[in-house]
Amino acid sequence: MKILNLKEGSFPIKLNLAFDSLSIPDVGKLQNQLNIEASISRISKSILKCDGYISGIFIDICQNCLNKTNVEINNKIEVAIKDSTELLNDSSDQDQTHYQDLEYFNIEIFIEEEIALLYPDIVKCRENCSLTEQELEKERNLPFKKIRDLID
Ligand SMILES: [Zn+2]
Repeated sequence: MKILNLKEGSFPIKLNLAFDSLSIPDVGKLQNQLNIEASISRISKSILKCDGYISGIFIDICQNCLNKTNVEINNKIEVAIKDSTELLNDSSDQDQTHYQDLEYFNIEIFIEEEIALLYPDIVKCRENCSLTEQELEKERNLPFKKIRDLID
């Protein structure tokens, strides 16, 4: 577990991390590693910003055909970071803000929240996978059915 004190120290802070596992519900299992290359810089006294890239491959199940499939996360991170005490009186409409105790900033929690946001809501093995196994089976048998219909 990596804890950083973001209230002091010199910025930007370079992050070069790899995770073997994550504890996020509703997200597949990591195929190998999740890699993060980012830097945290200070925008003002109370606002920090994290810029970088996050990439990894998750093994998940297609919600339609229930086959195993890979979910590739390969995204830019661009998030404002503020102290959790700011949460209540923050009126800005920025949707990409992460709140945490800046003095004991847990990198893992931050990364896990990012993955939860980036991860697709609906996992599919391919773009147009909307057929159930039964429907697929039907479709495979269709040409034979047509021939049978002709014979009849
Ligand atoms: Zn599928």
